[in-house]
Amino acid sequence: MVDICWEPDIERLPAQGLQDLQVERLRNTVAQAAKSPFYGDHLRQHGITAEGVRNIEDLQSIPFTTKEDLRGHFPYGLLCVPQQAVKRLHCSSGTTGNPTVIFHTQHDLDSWANLVARSLYATGVRDTDVFQNICGYGLFTGGLGFQYGAERLGALVIPAAAGNSKRQIKLIQDFSTTVIHTIPSYLTRLHSVFDDMGLDPRDTALRLLMIGAEPHSEETRQRIQGLFGVQAFNSYGLSEMNGPGVAFECHLQNGLHIWEDAYIVEIVDSETLAPVREGEVGELVLTTLDREAMPILRYRTRDLTRFLPGTCDCGRTHRRLDRITGRSDDMFIIRGCNVFPIQVEKVLMRIPQVGHDYLILLQTLDGVDVLSIQVEVHREWFTGDIAALDKLRRKITADVRDEVLVTPRVELVEPGALPKPEGKAVRVKDLRTTEGD
Ligand code: ADP
Ligand code: ZN
Repeated sequence: MVDICWEPDIERLPAQGLQDLQVERLRNTVAQAAKSPFYGDHLRQHGITAEGVRNIEDLQSIPFTTKEDLRGHFPYGLLCVPQQAVKRLHCSSGTTGNPTVIFHTQHDLDSWANLVARSLYATGVRDTDVFQNICGYGLFTGGLGFQYGAERLGALVIPAAAGNSKRQIKLIQDFSTTVIHTIPSYLTRLHSVFDDMGLDPRDTALRLLMIGAEPHSEETRQRIQGLFGVQAFNSYGLSEMNGPGVAFECHLQNGLHIWEDAYIVEIVDSETLAPVREGEVGELVLTTLDREAMPILRYRTRDLTRFLPGTCDCGRTHRRLDRITGRSDDMFIIRGCNVFPIQVEKVLMRIPQVGHDYLILLQTLDGVDVLSIQVEVHREWFTGDIAALDKLRRKITADVRDEVLVTPRVELVEPGALPKPEGKAVRVKDLRTTEGD
């Protein structure tokens, strides 16, 4: 059988070849985008034409597209094909406000499934695998995105959807599941249920985990790998750019290859919008290169990352992104310090006595802004030993302070005590009262 999921001609294309392909596809993409009401006006106003795209630098004259542009022209303003050519729509999960809608033709769906299949193949998934997809189906792109990608690769796919951990475990056992895809915050929860049932996931047929859709630290990945005894691969995507299959780690787990035949990748300074220097952290900006229904030009993802230097030993030439540290709007400022939730997570997950969940509360107490952290204690350590718990609390306080430069109030809670949303984890609640409230 021809291996459709390993495309060496594309995946190993030298940089110049990739760039030539990008320019050609960008030209087509600009021509296609101009068919939509939004881009038709927008590009005309900026004097952008497809013929004007001759080299990769010409990208710089194209205006950025923001989430507000998508919301402002909801629902059909960016559609470039007649409605009967549209086969499916997806919406973003709306973590940060109103959802946005993305339309796909059959070509778009095929291209997306190929990217997911290619990504899974790069981690080591094969057609002999049993792939259990534990995430929301429906409008969320993780469900159908992985479903079609893993099917394309030839795996046996179990559309398990989210929730009902006991049933998930039964499926894993009944069908000897070898690969799971889910969000990282769910895997730690699933592990607790294994534990409650007196079972160990290391005794199952599981051999690979795909984790993504929410920010997580290297420490969390290490924890998950330890709990399940198998490798976990970072998967990055966003609805506006299809969903999963935008960037993925290969079997070497040293950064996320971003598929440059399907996206032009820029990293810019969020304030000035100028490109950052090579290797610096900035906002990821993506342009679709293979979409018919709804191409998007220079989309400001608000996700922060950087290019990793050098090439990957796997032979793939598509550049690698560092782990996404979060969205620019995840950052909060407390007592003058800029903090990303993932910095707190990193510290917590290094401490073995800490359980798997935490919640950051920003509160105003007696007129002063306070960083409070509720931390679940690991069940093995949750004994009645007050002195030991107090020691742990002090250690967490000191370690977090060293990392974020603000002394937190740490409250230890029982394992399982924190709320567990069905979808992406909510890590921060801002309860501060602003002046005049
Ligand atoms: P929403 O924007 O409503 O959450 P999406 O499902 O499109 O809807 O979510 C995409 C976002 O999820 C990305 O922009 C990014 O912030 C986050 N994300 C996805 N995958 C990862 C990952 N592997 N690491 C960190 N963040 C991720
Ligand atoms: Zn690689």
